[in-house]
Amino acid sequence: MLPRQAVLGYLLDPSGNKLDEALVTFFLAPHSYTGEDVVEFSLHGSPVLVTTLLDGLCSQGARLAEPGEFTLRAFLNQRMDLSQAEAVADIIESTTLYQVQVAARQRSGEMSRKLTPVKEHLMDAIVQLESAVEFVEEDLPVDTREVLALKLERICRELAGWVVSFRRGRIIRDGFRIAIIGRPNVGKSSLFNALLSRERSIVTEVPGTTRDLVSDCTHINGIPVHLVDTAGVRTSVDKVEQLGVGRSLQAMADADAILLVVDTSSPSAPEDEILKKQLEGLSCIVVMNKSDLAARWQTEEKTRYAGIWPWIEVSAKTGAQIDTLQTLILRHMFGEASASRDGILVTHLRHCQCLEAAQRDLESACRSLRDGLSEEFALFDLRRALQELGAITGETSVDDLLGAIFSRFCIGK
Ligand code: GDP
Repeated sequence: MLPRQAVLGYLLDPSGNKLDEALVTFFLAPHSYTGEDVVEFSLHGSPVLVTTLLDGLCSQGARLAEPGEFTLRAFLNQRMDLSQAEAVADIIESTTLYQVQVAARQRSGEMSRKLTPVKEHLMDAIVQLESAVEFVEEDLPVDTREVLALKLERICRELAGWVVSFRRGRIIRDGFRIAIIGRPNVGKSSLFNALLSRERSIVTEVPGTTRDLVSDCTHINGIPVHLVDTAGVRTSVDKVEQLGVGRSLQAMADADAILLVVDTSSPSAPEDEILKKQLEGLSCIVVMNKSDLAARWQTEEKTRYAGIWPWIEVSAKTGAQIDTLQTLILRHMFGEASASRDGILVTHLRHCQCLEAAQRDLESACRSLRDGLSEEFALFDLRRALQELGAITGETSVDDLLGAIFSRFCIGK
């Protein structure tokens, strides 16, 4: 059987009768996903056929793979580094094309490519300091220490930029939560539907219909958004509705951003003011809804109501300005960087923590150098920083982490 060439064969039942055609491909080590000899079977997608084949293979001594085992083997056989292996899981879990694109960049080894020059600079600094320790009598001159500290500071600043990118990276990888808040009948459910672009929440003219939270997922520009439509936040004597009100307050607390909806086609109500007070200090966008109807709020009233929060006029009914609201939501979440899809993007908390730890070590090394302490102190910190950076790609001491990382995978990868 030639490597990497699909061969047509037959799948037999336990009595040896032909069940179906199947393709078999053999990959000779190291030219396979795991770096080992691998045989792949391609069957028609019937679960019965798959089970028959698996039973047959297991009766011959095979066993089912653990979750993530193939990728773990690929990592252990140095077919990929740890950040690339993590990206495989991200690709599998992606729900939008943008998420796949971001994960694919990491899968291609972007992290290690960016880390290599940083690690080389650190190694360079370590070599310099070590030679200073070796040749004590030729103690490093003071300005050399300062030059070294400046170099380390530059690396520190670079790492700090990567750490900051984690805020964006986390949102892209995990999405964000938006709660839609407002007094009854201002159009929350209609806005929820407009953002989802499909009917989901019940829209009625009787105030207080959305008694419980309705939530659904959508995406804006490829970023997953978890939308929560809250019950009309108002004082209610109705027990069921009261329950809903309690949950809306919880949804507000859990949300990354809040859309505070008001109806500018009717005069502002005291409840609008109460809500505004309740949301003080939170991250809100004021959505002035029903822009298709004649406005009953003066412009000054609108700006006064919004205060420091951004605001926008939309019509959930006609869809007017809904796309601008989406852009505003992204700008609100990402700041000015929202448009940029370039540059490094740290998407894993683990990577971010390693970078922060390395940053702290570098800062400490700089202090030791400037305070005139023995080179040994800076060396200790620099070696630790190098280890932290190495842990991102799995070069250094990650054995205890492997279980946690690969258990995230689905079976069969
Ligand atoms: P909620 O109680 O805040 O969830 O409000 P709903 O979404 O149930 O809407 C209450 C009423 O306002 C319904 O009759 C909607 O059709 C109507 N409505 C919602 N948005 C708009 C809008 O943008 N323009 C107009 N003209 N009516 C709207």
